[in-house]
Amino acid sequence: MTPEAFREHGHALVDWISDYIEQVGELPVTSTVPPGWVRGQLPAHPPTAPEPFTAVLDDLDRVVVPGLTQWQHPSFFAYFPANSTYPAILGELLSAGLGVNGMLWATSPACTELETLVVDWMAELLDLPDRFRSDGPGRGGGVIQGTASEATLCAILAARARAEMGTGAGGRGHGPLIAYATAQAHSAVEKGLRIAGLSRLHVVAHDDRYAMRPDALAAAIAEDRAAGRRPFFVCATAGTTSTTAFDPVDAIADVATAEGVWLHVDAAMSGVAALCPEHRWVNAGLERADSYCTNPPKWMGVTFDCDLFWVADRTPLLAALSILPEYLRTRVGDSGEVVDYRDWQIPLGRRFRALKLWFTLRLDGPDTTRAMIRDHVSWTQELAGWIEADERFDVVAPHPLNLVCCALRRGDDATEALIEAANATGEALFTRSVVTAPGGPPRTILRFCVGSRTTQRRHVEAGWRLLQSLAG
Ligand code: PLP
Repeated sequence: MTPEAFREHGHALVDWISDYIEQVGELPVTSTVPPGWVRGQLPAHPPTAPEPFTAVLDDLDRVVVPGLTQWQHPSFFAYFPANSTYPAILGELLSAGLGVNGMLWATSPACTELETLVVDWMAELLDLPDRFRSDGPGRGGGVIQGTASEATLCAILAARARAEMGTGAGGRGHGPLIAYATAQAHSAVEKGLRIAGLSRLHVVAHDDRYAMRPDALAAAIAEDRAAGRRPFFVCATAGTTSTTAFDPVDAIADVATAEGVWLHVDAAMSGVAALCPEHRWVNAGLERADSYCTNPPKWMGVTFDCDLFWVADRTPLLAALSILPEYLRTRVGDSGEVVDYRDWQIPLGRRFRALKLWFTLRLDGPDTTRAMIRDHVSWTQELAGWIEADERFDVVAPHPLNLVCCALRRGDDATEALIEAANATGEALFTRSVVTAPGGPPRTILRFCVGSRTTQRRHVEAGWRLLQSLAG
């Protein structure tokens, strides 16, 4: 492709993206194509000669878009959202255009220093404790990971390094390491432990609000110590995936601090709510957390992938992840004057992800996100009221922010059938989960998450009317 053609096609593609986003609400939210359809529409063998750009654009419309779940759709109420603002899209484009690999400070100082700056900006905007700041009083700092799952794995590896260094109050020991979380924690905890070669997870009981019981955590740790195991890691969740339950981080920190156990707080979805002063309660207890993460793609519009991961002390993280082969050695790196982010993550190479966060903060500004969060929370509370007023439904869990979980009183099969029927219309998309209240049976729930940047109150109302019309 010549530079002239790049300019021409680039403009055409930006126009295409803008048309797609502005008209996405008119498409069915889910793809209806059967398995194998997408591949079947395209040539079985790779091209042997360059094709015109228009042929590629035609295939986007003909094959790719019909094969998409429209994550930017205003009636996308499924999972948690993955929003993409215009500034973030431009930041992604620029990242590709610059094409740098920021594995070391020396391989692009701007990539590292801009990242450190915007992650500190986010710590300030979210009002996080100073100990997480790279320019704070201690050895804390933040980094952009790809996902919350990678952040969780890094936290586990740092916690293990600290346990092996014998610097936590738990000290060095010989028994097998064991971790703690509730059944409501994200599966990334179990996966991270498995990747780390650590199979022991003690599932801690939760209360009727689906939040961890600190007394149960203390009892679990005591039981494990008595059996010769070494407690090393607890994951508290600030906004669980199934129901946005908030573990009582402050009370959990009492236990974790006394026991010398690493406390990681996973706020992948809900942490960004702290942009709004009235929602800063989501940060409760972070003063004593060892690590923390939240995902700006979910509720801030910073195109996936981008997870903000902070540690209060970088020493154990670096002990876990730092390896210095000769071919990566630089004089400035050796001097200790700079950060080499390769030592803060699993891969070596890294994209210039800070650009999309920087663009979003500078071009849309935090007030745009605050206004959106406030709308989403307010519409969700209104929605919960509508559901409570319909005697066919139960609201199954507290709904402090932008997710309501409900179920049909007629039982799990009816709830499953409702989700399926609503999704089949293509008008809205919902997802399911199963939760178990203490002493109760597992219950299938319909999750209604209001988190799309394009959603307006009328879409929430239409989503609820759709459920009502199909509820039987
Ligand atoms: N933690 C929580 C609380 C989540 O809700 C999710 C995903 O929704 C994750 C972790 C995993 O996110 P990621 O895709 O960034 O790994």
